[in-house]
Amino acid sequence: MENKMKLEFLSKSVNESFARAAVAAFVSQLDPTLEELADIKTAVSEAVTNAIVHGYGHTEGIVTVSCRLEGQLVTVIIEDKGKGIENVALATQPLYTQSTDRERSGMGFTVMETFMDSMTVESSPEKGTVVTLTKEIGISS
Ligand code: ATP
Ligand code: MG
Repeated sequence: MENKMKLEFLSKSVNESFARAAVAAFVSQLDPTLEELADIKTAVSEAVTNAIVHGYGHTEGIVTVSCRLEGQLVTVIIEDKGKGIENVALATQPLYTQSTDRERSGMGFTVMETFMDSMTVESSPEKGTVVTLTKEIGISS
């Protein structure tokens, strides 16, 4: 099976649950287990939250989420044109956060890495951030 879709939405926090649910509904055609689906929803949620909170902050912009299915392989790409990340290696380390907000624990990227098979982050300051997540459905781990 090959299929793909693309969503574009404003960086409002209400859209986080929309993106998560839309990706889950799209991936459902591969017959994932509830656990696989929950993993993907959690990872997408973290990436979209980062785009909204860190990428755009108090400004408003467009977040793009695209999803591709190739056989049992799911690829989700979350993109913002926000402020970008200066040091990706540092930002993706467990517990690293730039936020002083007590709600942030600095575990978003670690969660994405843990729940998906692969994660890549491309980012440059003032240009934005692209997070690519993949997961193979139906492979017991
Ligand atoms: P948590 O996700 O646990 O609430 P967090 O968002 O700070 O906390 P991560 O998701 O791991 O932790 O992100 C680490 C840091 O990387 C963030 O604090 C932020 O500085 C930077 N970052 C992540 N995503 C983006 C993005 N899309 N645009 C700009 N900076 C980002
Ligand atoms: Mg985060």
